[in-house]
Amino acid sequence: MASKSELIKSAKAIKAVELFRKRMNRQAIISMGVCVHCGNCTETCHYYQATKDPKMSPAYKADKVRKVYKKHFDWLGRVLPGWVGAKDISTDEDLEELKDICFGSCTMCRRCTFNCPMGVDKALIIRTARGILTELKIAPQGILDVNKDQWEIGNQMGVTDEEYLETIDWLSEELQNELGDPDARMPMDIPDCNIVYAINPREVKYAPMSLLASAKIFYAVDESWTLPAKGWDNTNFGLFSGDNALGGHMGKLVFENVRRLNGRMLVTSECGHGYRSTKWESPNWSGIFLKQPILNFLEVVCDYVESGRLKLDKSLNKEPVTYHDPCNYARSGGITEEPRYLLRQSVIDFREMYPNRADNWCCSGGGGAMSMSEYSKRRLEAAKIKAEQLKATGAKIVATACHNCVDALTDLIRHYKLNMKVSLVGELVANAVVIEKKPRVAVPAVGGDAFLKGNTILVVDDEPDMVTFLSAVFEDNGGTVLKASNGDEAISVLRRQKPHLMTLDLSMPGKSGVEVFEEIRKDQELTKLPVFVITGQPELRKLIYDNSYAPPEGYANKPIDEERLLLTVRKILNIPHQS
Ligand code: SF4
Ligand code: SF4
Repeated sequence: MASKSELIKSAKAIKAVELFRKRMNRQAIISMGVCVHCGNCTETCHYYQATKDPKMSPAYKADKVRKVYKKHFDWLGRVLPGWVGAKDISTDEDLEELKDICFGSCTMCRRCTFNCPMGVDKALIIRTARGILTELKIAPQGILDVNKDQWEIGNQMGVTDEEYLETIDWLSEELQNELGDPDARMPMDIPDCNIVYAINPREVKYAPMSLLASAKIFYAVDESWTLPAKGWDNTNFGLFSGDNALGGHMGKLVFENVRRLNGRMLVTSECGHGYRSTKWESPNWSGIFLKQPILNFLEVVCDYVESGRLKLDKSLNKEPVTYHDPCNYARSGGITEEPRYLLRQSVIDFREMYPNRADNWCCSGGGGAMSMSEYSKRRLEAAKIKAEQLKATGAKIVATACHNCVDALTDLIRHYKLNMKVSLVGELVANAVVIEKKPRVAVPAVGGDAFLKGNTILVVDDEPDMVTFLSAVFEDNGGTVLKASNGDEAISVLRRQKPHLMTLDLSMPGKSGVEVFEEIRKDQELTKLPVFVITGQPELRKLIYDNSYAPPEGYANKPIDEERLLLTVRKILNIPHQS
């Protein structure tokens, strides 16, 4: 029978206590139980520094969660609740108050933890409560939305497969232009590489130049690397929302693709929580323990520089630079010296910020704070101490190694009117790279060397003019051409002959190109056939990208010019340009 206090409890409060019970593990119990209220952690929190409000001290905030633990799981709390500060959660208002504390007053930066003589991990306590609130949907909408995108689309910014592949395609062209080498590329889904590179979706959506910087560095050292077509998001909102199942789901997506591609190591791009989640947390959440090592991009680049594979010219970065330690690297990931080493090699004037490393102040945007707009005002107030720290360096650029920190620092720099820019470490390194191999100066004639000799290409299109154009270009470059004017004919030719590549129109009478594509991908014999979609109806793209099959190896809208056509065919067939 329910007790009297349970009868007046809200349904959500009852559920919250049930969830609390489920989430208790050894780590959580230790952190809940051992605080001696010495007050050592008070001054270490940037929220307290900004307000001097005792309610913003780490111990006070953790006590709001701890009191529930004491009420239900501590024998003294059950017998003498008033004595040890045990108190139940009873109402929806109690839960709202907890939401405000756990999501709006703590970035889970763990600075307080490093200053606690008892080793109390306040971020762990806060994350435990966040997980309960998220499950009850009493979390900020921004957190719930990002969680949903990671569950349903597989990345935190809702980037579709199509958008991802299109951006990478475009970046390949940018890379070729920047390096003057038409063979430079952003490799996609290549098996047996040295590195499978998992990135932050911000690099696809808002900051493609950081991905370009990584590609330039990999190019300079002739690295064998690839981006995966799926499972490419190294970030994990399971860490911020406390949703362990989501944490496992995101880890599984990345790990399974490393296995599928048989990469020799998994490297995560510059993202503090992405690195921490992927390397340290996701194996436990997902139950998948890769045999391949998991490294961060900066560790790999340090190796390149130390071994002499990567040459840098620091005179290319003249402005004074300081470094902001992302919390998840410095306090939860063990990466503090690599970025400093790289910056000293890449810039003329590197200046330390104080305090630094594990004692550094949070950028104020940790713990998913950048996705919770309702707390922006409080976040920016709490960023005051960070702003003072930045200003004191006199640097013109603050480098950091985390996309989330980039956004938070940019926001606070604007708010506090500091005269500074933010850069990723990798971008400064890429700017200082000296490429020793002789690049080709201009994009060369893409045909002319009979490069298609020995290759048979099936051209599938219902427009005779298009068939004539494609056939003529391929034959002029040494290729053998097969033709089909509809889907059924295409399948029949494929079953009789084995071309090296098929160009495919999507809209045709009878069996459409979309159906042909599906049939090929489902067919064990044909599934590996490279497909270059050339369509006049871009709205049909979704139909071939929004499914579980491997995407087409090439895509272009009509009209397509000869140069783009041959460049893409070269890429698909992996035929290098002749010098
Ligand atoms: S420093 Fe540790 S023991 Fe002291 S009040 Fe803070 S959490 Fe409690
Ligand atoms: S984890 Fe960071 S933000 Fe949270 S209470 Fe501790 S110092 Fe403050």
